[in-house]
Amino acid sequence: MLFGAPGSGKGTTGKMLTKLTGWPHLATGDLLREQITRKTSLGLEMQSILAAGQLAPDDLVSRMVWDRLGWPDCEAGFLLDGFPRTIPQAEGLAQWFSGRNFRPVLIHLWVEYNEILRRLTGRRTCPTCGAIYHLESTPSKVPGVCDTDGAELTVRADDREEVVLQRLQTYQTQTWPVAETLRKNGILVEAIDCGEMDPESVADRIRWRLDRIGGSIAKKSKPE
Ligand SMILES: [Zn+2]
Repeated sequence: MLFGAPGSGKGTTGKMLTKLTGWPHLATGDLLREQITRKTSLGLEMQSILAAGQLAPDDLVSRMVWDRLGWPDCEAGFLLDGFPRTIPQAEGLAQWFSGRNFRPVLIHLWVEYNEILRRLTGRRTCPTCGAIYHLESTPSKVPGVCDTDGAELTVRADDREEVVLQRLQTYQTQTWPVAETLRKNGILVEAIDCGEMDPESVADRIRWRLDRIGGSIAKKSKPE
C-alpha cells in the first residue's frame, strides 16, 4: 500500500515500482474507470452515484478492490494506490489479508514539509501552451516568461501556498487514522524518507526494503 502526500511523487514512484517488481499498480481511480468502461453492474452503480455528485461509498469501493485482487496477476503481489482511504476500508482490507498468503506493508513516502512546499509552490504554468516550469528545478530561460511563446507564467490555483497547506492538512487528517487502523491490525508500516531523491531512486529503495522484509517478495518477474 502506497501512501504519500501531494507532491511526494507517489504516482510516478508507483509506476516505477511496478516495473521493478512486476506487480500490478492498482490505483482506485483507474479501477473505477475500468469498471465504468466495462459497464459491469458495479461500474453502472458507481456511475450513477458519481453522476449525482456523491462520493463512492466504502462498500462499493471495497467490492471493486476485492474483485480486482482476485485476478491471477495479483497472486504474486500487488501495489495499492489510493486504497484504503477510510477506516472501514482499512478494516476490510486487514480482514481480506487475514488467512491469505500475503505479507502486507504500508509504505509511507515521507517528504519533509518544506520540501513539499518548495516542490508545489515553485511550479509555474504557461496559460497559452500549458508548459510547466519550476522556479528551481526547471526554470524558464527568462524568469516569469514562457520559453516557447513568451507568455507571462502564472501560478495555478492549486499551487498557491495557502491551498497547498490546506491540501497537506486534509491529507494528514484523513490518512493518519487509516494508517493507525492498519497498524493496529498487524500490518507493517514502513516510512521511506524520500528527501530530495527522484522517484526512480525512491522506487529502488522501496524494493530493497521490501526484499529485506519479505525475503521472497518483490522479485522482478520479467525483463524490461
Ligand atoms: Zn507557453
